[in-house]
Order: sequence, then structure tokens, then C-alpha cells
Amino acid sequence: MRTTKSHSLFKIAQVAIPGGVNSPVRAFRSVGGDPIFIKTAKGAQIEDVDGNSFIDYVLSWGPMILGHAHPNVLKAIIKAAKKGTSYGAPCQAETELARLIVQAVPSIDQVRLVNSGTEAVMSAIRVARAYTKRDSILKFDGCYHGHADHLLVKAGSGIATLGIPDTPGVPNAFARQTLTAPFNDIKATEKLIHKHAQNLAAIIVEPVAGNMGVVPPLNEFLPWLRRITQKYEIVLIFDEVITGFRVNFGGAQARYKVVPDMTCLGKIIGGGLPIGAYGGRRDIMQMIAPAGPVYQAGTLSGNPVAVAAGLETLRQLKTPGVYKELERKSQMIAEGLGEAARQAKIPYYQTRVGSMLGGFFTESPVNDFASAKKSDTARYAKFFHGMLKKGVYLAPSQFEAMLLSTAHSDAKIKHTISVAQQVFKIIKG
Ligand SMILES: *Cc1c(COP(=O)(O)O)cnc(C)c1O
Repeated sequence: MRTTKSHSLFKIAQVAIPGGVNSPVRAFRSVGGDPIFIKTAKGAQIEDVDGNSFIDYVLSWGPMILGHAHPNVLKAIIKAAKKGTSYGAPCQAETELARLIVQAVPSIDQVRLVNSGTEAVMSAIRVARAYTKRDSILKFDGCYHGHADHLLVKAGSGIATLGIPDTPGVPNAFARQTLTAPFNDIKATEKLIHKHAQNLAAIIVEPVAGNMGVVPPLNEFLPWLRRITQKYEIVLIFDEVITGFRVNFGGAQARYKVVPDMTCLGKIIGGGLPIGAYGGRRDIMQMIAPAGPVYQAGTLSGNPVAVAAGLETLRQLKTPGVYKELERKSQMIAEGLGEAARQAKIPYYQTRVGSMLGGFFTESPVNDFASAKKSDTARYAKFFHGMLKKGVYLAPSQFEAMLLSTAHSDAKIKHTISVAQQVFKIIKG
């Protein structure tokens, strides 16, 4: 595989941009090597500047559920852009997208559009704090909620339950307001809640964890979270930035029939353009300015071009049978990869919810971040590079999801499986 042009572009990029990328995981640091620079993308296929073509299972980390450059989405974008790309004043399309989201997502009576998932989560937590007049929040180890200060927090060691910053630049005082518990661990979470209930504004969770690989919720976890947060009047926030409109039209909450108080969205609802949204119960959302006292604003929020791309994407997803077909294809590739690993006698623990797939190089079950970390990441790096060389683009990290789009044809899936069969054999040694 020739990578001369990517290599030289990366060199130049590193001079002008920290680490050469605008988001860290793009840099391939956890699998080694240099990133490929993309020239063009269409359907399930991306092509780099050296002319290599790949079947894409990253899909811009989630948004491209219809595949790249979907003709109808492109048409909607162009049509909107011709009418001006930003007004800073209300337009009808914003309400249309908001209404579609309200109809689709069970927990959302009202919704506010923002510009990224990070912004959605950050704003939702501010509102939850104002609503409950409490300061602390609880999150789960290995769940990612964007890069806002109080969410870049990991568990304290030993008996310490209060968070410590995950990165320099986050004041300890912020991190201390964030408690962390292991995902899927009812006992540990219950203990924390009992101890801190009077000061807990919100519990935030990815209903299907998609940022430590894919880790589905155990049967009782989400219903239990719903019950206990109701009991202590803690705002339950589902971060559905990745699961929203992916695992189901109404998100994971529709799939699992557990309705939180607030929901964060992003990725798919922008159809590949920058967007985020947070919504929830009317009485909570009425706290937000100008309806209420909680300030939150944005120059480009509800941007007409992003909204047009999102609206068209959601309309396409509304077509009957779309999710059933995605489910069928996702099952097909999961089974193929699992069988390929078994044939090569490679320990491979698979997870899947809808078109979100995980594959960990370990025999032991993965239910939380600690067990996810048992995966042989060196083997993943070999797997990643092996697949890349043969034209399959996977996430350049073990702890990211493999995603499918409606544009992944059966032929592409079968090809991917046959490539995996070869690569599993190569990386076995
Ligand atoms: C991607 C993601 C975010 C952050 O969204 P950005 O648009 O990258 O800021 C937040 N939460 C979850 C669950 C995500 O997957």
C-alpha cells in the first residue's frame, strides 16, 4: 500500500496543527503508524490521497449512517446553502428538525440545538444542576461524553470515590464534583448514590457504551438506573450522541424501553455536518433561557445547512425497513467475523447492538471498562493494520465502535469477512 502522499501531508500538518490532527484519535497513536489522509468518500467507501480505497467502518465516528455523500442529503445541503448558510435568526427548518426529534425520542418534549455532542452534554448538565439545585454528577468509567471539563474525569484510586482529572487543565475542584462508577455495576453505583444522593444533580450514561469499544447494558442496569434516580430525584441523562437514531429510530431508550429525564444527541442528527442537541421533559427544558434562567446560546446553533442535512438524514431513516435491514447486515458481519476468529483460534469476545459492533481480543466477557481493557491491544493494532492494507478501514483504536451504514452492501460485507479470515490467520503468530 502506497502512503507517500498521506505521509507528506501529515508532516506538513504537524507543523501547523498540534499532532497534525484536529481530534486526537485520528492520529493512529494507539495502533501506531501515520494516519491516511482522505481525498473523497462515497457510500461505504473512502479513498485516500494516494489512491487507496477502503470500505469504511468508522463512518466519521457515527454520523454517516446512510453512507458518505448520500445523494438526497447532498441535494438538501446544496438547496439550503443556496438560501444562505447562517442567519442568526430563527428559520422554519430548525422547528422541523426539533419536531422530528420530539416525535422520535420518547424522553424529549422539547429540544435545543447546539453545535456538537460535547456542547449538548455540557449544556444538559448545567440545566440538570440548575433544576435540582445540586452540584455533583455521576458518570461511568469508560463512558465518553465529550471533552467538557467536568466529564474528563476518571475514578479515584482505592476507596476514593471522587473523581480526579483525566487531563491537565481541568481543576481538581471541577473533577471532585464528578463521581464515577463501573458501567453495569449496580452495587457500586448504589453505594455511591446512597452516600451522595443529597448533592447529586444528574447521572449521565451512554445507554450502550460506544467509547470503550461497544459494551451493551446488562438487562437490569438501565431499568434500575431509572428507578433509583426517580427515588432520589436525580436527573437521569442518556447520552445518545452515538446511539441516537443508530440502534433504533428513537435511540437506545426506545430499544430498551427506559425513558430518561434528558437526552443528548449529535452525530446522525447532523447528517455529517456539525450539530448537537439536548432535550428532555418540558419542566426541565423550560429552565433554559429565554424561557427560564439558565443561560445557553450559540452563534451557529440551528444552522440551516446542518439542519437540512440532519432533516434529510432522519427522513431517509424513517423509511420502513431501514433498521431491520441494518440489523440483518450487522448480524451478518458479526457472525462472519466471529466465525473467522474461531477458525483462526483467536480469542475474540464480540458485542453488538444494532449496527454498533465490538470485538475484543480476550476470552473473558466484557461488561465494563476494566474488562474491556483486558483486550490484547497490540493484537488489535496488528488486526487494524492488516485490514487497512487489504482495503478495510476500522477505527484506529480497540476502544471505538465498528459501525455499519445502509450503504454497506452484502458484497462489501462478504468481502470484509474474507479479508478478516486472511488477517486473523496472519496475526495469529
Ligand atoms: C461523540 C460523542 C460525544 C461528543 O460529541 P462531539 O460532537 O464529538 O463533541 C459525546 N458523547 C458520546 C456518547 C459520543 O459518542
